[in-house]
Amino acid sequence: MQKKLSAATICVQGGYKPKNGEPRVLPIYQSTTFKYDTTEQMARLFDLEDEGYFYTRLQNPTNDAVARKIADLEGGVAAMLTSSGQAANFYAVFNICEAGDHIVASSAIYGGTFNLFGVTMKKLGIDCTFVDPDAPDDVIGAAFKPNTKALFGETIANPAMAVLDIEKFARIAHSHGVPLIVDNTFATPINCRPFEWGADIVTHSTTKYMDGHAMAVGGAIVDSGNFDWTAHADRFPGLTTPDESYHGITYTEKFGKMAYITKATAQLMRDLGSIQSPQNAFLLNVGLETLHLRVARHCQNALAVANFLNSHPKVAWVRYCGLPGDKYHAMAQKYLPDGSCGVLSFGVKGTRADAARLMDAFRFIAIVTHVADARTCVLHPASHTHRQLSDEQLIEAGVAPDLIRLSVGIEDPDDIIEDLSQALDKL
Ligand SMILES: *Cc1c(COP(=O)(O)O)cnc(C)c1O
Repeated sequence: MQKKLSAATICVQGGYKPKNGEPRVLPIYQSTTFKYDTTEQMARLFDLEDEGYFYTRLQNPTNDAVARKIADLEGGVAAMLTSSGQAANFYAVFNICEAGDHIVASSAIYGGTFNLFGVTMKKLGIDCTFVDPDAPDDVIGAAFKPNTKALFGETIANPAMAVLDIEKFARIAHSHGVPLIVDNTFATPINCRPFEWGADIVTHSTTKYMDGHAMAVGGAIVDSGNFDWTAHADRFPGLTTPDESYHGITYTEKFGKMAYITKATAQLMRDLGSIQSPQNAFLLNVGLETLHLRVARHCQNALAVANFLNSHPKVAWVRYCGLPGDKYHAMAQKYLPDGSCGVLSFGVKGTRADAARLMDAFRFIAIVTHVADARTCVLHPASHTHRQLSDEQLIEAGVAPDLIRLSVGIEDPDDIIEDLSQALDKL
């Protein structure tokens, strides 16, 4: 058997495999549609009898090559790209839930996902119970109901920086007969592959490290192919009973391990249409080609910055799981032995106004609503991304009102520290 390629090689070479005489670089198939010679050929595509392209809302060769690369990086059987990370998390859940169903989610998750699950999906009739991810098995298990369809968490929570005990979450999910969905945006498959710890489905906001240059909003869903839907057939009728909108095919019967992604593509993308543009998929692929180099540098720089802040007299606290002494250091050693990510959070001694003044004093560290790209940037979640949450919800989501989120880029670490230092001096 051929040795499996390492992540670095998949980053550079994965997904697109040009044949003799074809372009060396993944082409952008900037075409909404695809041409066929006979009505019969086209009809077979619509019936999911043949594989092939007919309309870019469902599938496009550029997107599929990039999805393949991400699936290989995660060690999954199949993946799909979505227009955003929000769409990825929505589809990942909605693919196995409908009105009257329920999910359990870690409370330490991205603010957008917290709203999606807590407010918007509730309007669709899907309820969510949020749990403290650090609670023991039985406490988390008590949140499950007969109509619960999934457990959800983030490998490294944005911006709480909590590290998820993936094995524990997988154990709890599986003992209740549901899949574990893990948002692996911050760790990326370079630093953690949740499937190796028992997760069943992984999602990404590719907008962050995967693109890495703040150029293209996007998302991805990856299936491990490991969850046995048919063993819990009555819980997942969407996958295990005939789909009348596809002439009565049953996804698990016809597609086996590909059932989940095939249904999400054929049904959800067809009807909801949050497709990633081929142009953005191309940019994402360029980002992925250096993911392994950038992630390592982000982690190195972030650790240097965390150490600097940690010993600064004007800094009240630093939260970075790479720091010995951090609440999640041991968890990070287990799940993220090669490094966590470039994002850390800290608070300055003083008032909320002092935090704002600090942010205004930087030279090149910029205030932007973004994280995880090449340029160092800061954000104050309580006044920006999480401003719709109450103080109790903020604290429940692990976001202190004075928390400054710092996304450490890949510049020279001495320059980043210098910029922080001169701004802190002005306080
Ligand atoms: C940014 C982010 C999202 C949402 O992704 P978008 O691409 O902005 O829609 C979801 N999860 C995590 C962990 C994120 O950081």
